[in-house]
Amino acid sequence: MLPKSADVVVIGGGVLGTSAAFHLSAAGQKNVVVLDRGAIASGTTPFAAGQTGYLTCDRLALKFGAYNVDFFSHFEKHTGHAIDFQQSGSLRVALTDKYKDDLESRIQAAAEIGHEVQILSHQVAKSRVPLFDPPSGCQILSVPKDGYVEPKSVAVAYASGACDRGATIHTRTNVSGLEIHDGRVKAVQTDQGVIETDWVVLAAGAWTRQFGQRLGLNLRTVPVRHQAFDTAPIKGVKTNQPIVRITEPQVYVRQEAGGLLVGGYGYQPRTFDMNDFPEDFEIPALAADQAYYQELRAAATAFFPALTDAVVVRERRGLPTISPDGRLLVSETREINGLIIVSGCAVGGVDRSPGTGRLVADIITGRDPWFPLEGLTVDRFGDEFANDGELRERCQEIYAHHYHEIY
Ligand SMILES: Cc1cc2nc3c(=O)[nH]c(=O)nc-3n(C[C@H](O)[C@H](O)[C@H](O)COP(=O)(O)OP(=O)(O)OC[C@H]3O[C@@H](n4cnc5c(N)ncnc54)[C@H](O)[C@@H]3O)c2cc1C
Repeated sequence: MLPKSADVVVIGGGVLGTSAAFHLSAAGQKNVVVLDRGAIASGTTPFAAGQTGYLTCDRLALKFGAYNVDFFSHFEKHTGHAIDFQQSGSLRVALTDKYKDDLESRIQAAAEIGHEVQILSHQVAKSRVPLFDPPSGCQILSVPKDGYVEPKSVAVAYASGACDRGATIHTRTNVSGLEIHDGRVKAVQTDQGVIETDWVVLAAGAWTRQFGQRLGLNLRTVPVRHQAFDTAPIKGVKTNQPIVRITEPQVYVRQEAGGLLVGGYGYQPRTFDMNDFPEDFEIPALAADQAYYQELRAAATAFFPALTDAVVVRERRGLPTISPDGRLLVSETREINGLIIVSGCAVGGVDRSPGTGRLVADIITGRDPWFPLEGLTVDRFGDEFANDGELRERCQEIYAHHYHEIY
């Protein structure tokens, strides 16, 4: 039975909604209720590669990322629930002078926060990732603190940690709208009844923009299709090998169950309007873009020749959200007090979930935000990208250059 009232209602039980619920409960917020129309982690979250990737030259984003990677290193201590964070490290590979310079800037950024990173010889890189064939002349940066998690387990752990601290979760509960009085949230309407509340956290993944439209909001966040695949075990893959990220073709390759998990950006970038999907659409039904898979595989095979004959045993795809500047949206809306938006994960929602959840808790409990909120507010675009076509075009461009960090 749904409660009649709650202090905070979180819409969406993906990794971002559950993190918000956990951090709120951990901050002492009573009576937090999470609603999902499916099960916990039944949207895009379970399809993620689950990688962290914190080392950027953007000093603010670096602060955010370093916090996240540290949180994952101590996840059980924070939440009371273990996850399997494989701190394998990562290798960032640059083929051209432009991105070799970028590696130098990353070394500098890492030094500023006291993290050790180093340029590896091709020989050492190959000893760590035997199936990787580094092209001559490329430069390889080792980032030891990076790693990956099984993404569903992270959402489940947050949800469990939230419940341990008094939150409740109601799955199979579709939220149809909000009741708003005098510009403030008053209640959440669902197919199971109404819950009175002063605070709503909208973390509905791909559906966030559409939900906002029904409230008269033009949230600058759109779903973008991202695809990856896993192969059957391949001889020579080491279970502890680092993730390999190749900058120019925007490909990532990591170990998964003795095979390789391969994903990448920029291939056939495509955003969506959720109004074009049936009401009962669910992420597992998302159609594959076969050309995307073909281009991705060809690009990765140039560096991992063993992929030529590899058997694909799982396709991953989903609809992460992306904003016109590639940054998160985490703030209360100006139009509706008490409504907090959590979106714009930019294919990094698992990675960014600790810092994002903590920010939501800071906003609602009135604590000083641990991270400057200005760059993350939903209103920051002003009148820009108000037109749907313009917004989607810009977001596709951002996605298409994810590793090139054009923003
Ligand atoms: C192939 C692939 C690889 C990826 N790799 C990585 C990676 O390496 N690292 C990383 O950090 N991220 C990665 N991502 C991105 C990551 O999956 C997302 O950033 C993250 O899952 C977003 O979480 P979310 O909570 O916003 O959305 P979701 O997981 O989609 O959760 C939203 C939830 O809201 C619910 N919902 C929606 N509308 C309503 C409603 N009206 N009422 C009730 N419930 C509702 C849905 O049922 C859903 O469960 C990858 C994604 C893909 C597809």
